[in-house]
Amino acid sequence: MDLSTSLQTFPGIGPVKAKALARLGLENVGDLLRWYPRDHEDRSQIYSLAETPEEPCCVLAMVAETPRTSYIRKGLSLTKCRIVDGAAQAEVTFFNQDYVRESLRRGESYIFYGRVERFGNQKKLTNPVFEPEGKARFTGRIMPVYPLTAGISNNRLAGMVLRCVEECAGLFPDELPPGLRQSYTLASEEYAIQNIHFPKDWEALELARRRLAFEELFILSCGMAFLRKRRGAVEGRRFPQREPGDFLKLLPFSPTGAQRRAMEEIAADLTSGRPMNRLVQGDVGSGKTAVAAFGAWLAHEGGVQCAMMAPTEILARQHYETLSALLEPAGIRVGLLVGSLKPSEKKAVHQALARGEIDLAVGTHALLSAGVAYQDLGLVITDEQHRFGVGQRSALSAKAEIPPHVLVMSATPIPRTLALLIYGDLDVTVLDELPPGRTPVETYLVGEDKRQRMYGFVRKHVMEGRQVYIICPAVEEGEGMDLKAVTAYAKDLQERVFPDLRVGFVHGKLKSGEKEAVMSAFSGGTLDVLVSTTVVEVGVDVPNATLMIIENADRFGLSQLHQLRGRVGRGKWQSTCVLVSSNRAPETRERMKYFCSTTDGFKIAEKDLELRGPGDFFGARQHGLPTLKAADFAGDTRLLKEAQQAAGEVLDADPGLEKPENRPLKEKIRRLFAEDGDIFN
Ligand code: ADP
Ligand code: MG
Repeated sequence: MDLSTSLQTFPGIGPVKAKALARLGLENVGDLLRWYPRDHEDRSQIYSLAETPEEPCCVLAMVAETPRTSYIRKGLSLTKCRIVDGAAQAEVTFFNQDYVRESLRRGESYIFYGRVERFGNQKKLTNPVFEPEGKARFTGRIMPVYPLTAGISNNRLAGMVLRCVEECAGLFPDELPPGLRQSYTLASEEYAIQNIHFPKDWEALELARRRLAFEELFILSCGMAFLRKRRGAVEGRRFPQREPGDFLKLLPFSPTGAQRRAMEEIAADLTSGRPMNRLVQGDVGSGKTAVAAFGAWLAHEGGVQCAMMAPTEILARQHYETLSALLEPAGIRVGLLVGSLKPSEKKAVHQALARGEIDLAVGTHALLSAGVAYQDLGLVITDEQHRFGVGQRSALSAKAEIPPHVLVMSATPIPRTLALLIYGDLDVTVLDELPPGRTPVETYLVGEDKRQRMYGFVRKHVMEGRQVYIICPAVEEGEGMDLKAVTAYAKDLQERVFPDLRVGFVHGKLKSGEKEAVMSAFSGGTLDVLVSTTVVEVGVDVPNATLMIIENADRFGLSQLHQLRGRVGRGKWQSTCVLVSSNRAPETRERMKYFCSTTDGFKIAEKDLELRGPGDFFGARQHGLPTLKAADFAGDTRLLKEAQQAAGEVLDADPGLEKPENRPLKEKIRRLFAEDGDIFN
């Protein structure tokens, strides 16, 4: 067995389980060893039954009688037995685990792990984990708790990892330059891999985590330093100075102070002779589109083409509508390029771009496809950047002969501690002002019992001429039945709840033509209620929509809820967001309540980070950087500083990472930033 051994060769892993593992990105032993636990359970102490703590714990006890199963009703069986250890005894109950009868033998000793509850002077254990004394693998030690997917249990995963750790923990090459481990007191890679999964004790876990987190932050810091260096070295094209008033005349509103400042900064960048690399960060609704339009206008005045990339087709189409209406009067020819165009339409757009007959191309990542060539691309705008990788940003830039100016728009308020690292190679403009006349969206949390009243509220909004979003979490394979499948739910709403209203639905699996038809019906006002998954999360702008209902709201993270809520409160009417959740878990209630209490995107992002940790917040490459597995952006600020310092030292001594001892590091950086072309050029 080595790092490339397929997980399919493990006992008990057939095609179905292999597929489930692949959903987590786990295909071979190496992947598995890099699948770090999200938490650990302390099963290291063994207590006597007489002295158990309140929390779940391990006890070593003998089974005093053969377990008996009784069948309570269809689908419910109880298997019970008594266990004893010298001084005390307890009753153990298993629900629907009849096989326990065969595995627990009278007279033999086992380690049980679970919560020991006390009823009077009786002690009870329900559904504990147990293992025979002397053969314990998952008890009597600190046990890893892994992020899971349907079909794969924690025990299964832990069992596989344990085997891999025993046989392969030492096989990863140590990529840190040798001197670094000493000067920053870092554990070896082998030690770190062993102890991040099955730590010897809590201190070992901390050492392992420090090493792995440091390594990630260090490599990231080196990579960002390369990107910055590359950017500082090039010349950009210089656009002529233009009177912004000519652009402002095109706008149907006067810009906010923040928009005006952003435009000034962009104008200064574009006339400076250096390539612009600017992030415009503004909360949902702060008016980033107008700022982007200004950039496109300047590019046109400068005689070059502009490409604007949006993360979804819905959003690309919407930008296309908005920007053509705004800019065509100024003689700017706007084109749309999205995946769902017919081949003949695509070809026409490609030709027009190559001939310079389109000045502004709005689209999805279709703008990146191989067939697309520009006559002279001078400005690249990406909207909602957190959806794109750093790599995609530069892939688009690569379509220009001279490095183009880059403008990135993002609505994700990145907690301040992170902004520097994540956007380390960008200048930042913050749009910290909303257009006038907005009233903050009022947000309420309701339980299932208020459903009828809530539907009444929907009707009221529609009767007043407004429109309503109803958001449902996407249904993923294997998830419970309580989730509202969009299609069925929309049908039910239309047929039984709102037979007199116009209800539409949209979700990610629809063909894009269908999606587009529904979206334009909604924005054109021919639908009253739009039932949707989170596909409307980013950017969609329908000012007449004033009510958003979010079903199973506890399923969403705070930042995502904030993005969703940003779809309402865009017009002149008071808007409302209703979170539907009957989840009574205290943490969930706290999260929902917090969300109701503020509309400040920064505060929400920081809370999100605090509550969920960066694993989720930064999951799915939201930030456009390689995913961090061990490092915690919120908590590891000090470690980040150390890592940045170390990166500085290493690069000062060997700027191109040419020395033999730095080769493995260079290779690692290259792999991590693989999408980003070759960052060493
Ligand atoms: P963002 O992309 O930042 O979330 P948008 O650019 O979609 O926000 O703008 C949100 C809404 O506000 C749009 O309907 C837009 O026309 C409007 N808007 C933008 N700037 C202004 C302004 N200065 N005054 C009034 N309305 C504005
Ligand atoms: Mg936007």
